[in-house]
Amino acid sequence: MQYIVDHIPRTTPCNRRPGLAMSPQYITIHSTGNPSSTARNERAWLTNPSNKVTASWHIVVDEKEAIEAIPLNEVAWHAGDGSGQGNRASIGIEMCESGNRVKTLENAVKLTAKLLKERGWGVDRLRRHHDWSGKICPRILQPNNWAGWEQFKRDVQKELSGGETVSTKNQPSPWAKDAWEWAKKEGLLDGTRPKDNLTREEFAVVLQKVVGGK
Ligand SMILES: [Zn+2]
Repeated sequence: MQYIVDHIPRTTPCNRRPGLAMSPQYITIHSTGNPSSTARNERAWLTNPSNKVTASWHIVVDEKEAIEAIPLNEVAWHAGDGSGQGNRASIGIEMCESGNRVKTLENAVKLTAKLLKERGWGVDRLRRHHDWSGKICPRILQPNNWAGWEQFKRDVQKELSGGETVSTKNQPSPWAKDAWEWAKKEGLLDGTRPKDNLTREEFAVVLQKVVGGK
């Protein structure tokens, strides 16, 4: 997926880019509410002279690309909570409702996971627009009592864990289970992070235990 940075000017009407500094704490997920607009259409709308609303977002994503319209350390007006945490401390991502829905969702999951990972955050940092203001948004994930939202978070978690769920990531593979349990019992390894690489210093500690008998 292509990631395009195409910021709207600070002079954009209706205060759509207020230029207020933001230290984000959350990522807020939306869908555009427009069944036919692409990411490029949405970006163009932000600077369209006939647009009279004070509403904006940070990143829009569709079936083929993501476009960043406002820097991620500046406020955008997307959460409907005035000067609350949604607007003032969250990165707003709009998912397009046009085109290939599966592909769009896949792109949104990947983008979200990347943003979380870069910040060392987990899925507990994710919010719906709905969480801030009660609006039914992202509406494409709302049917069946927000089943799509729960799935979205699971998919982001899976992406964060490198395609594995957390529970399998913290378990040794079946073929290694015997040896893993033995090494733990013998005190050679501490029994954590079964899928991580061994560093040279960790190897030295293991060597000292095995060869040095310590
Ligand atoms: Zn929304």
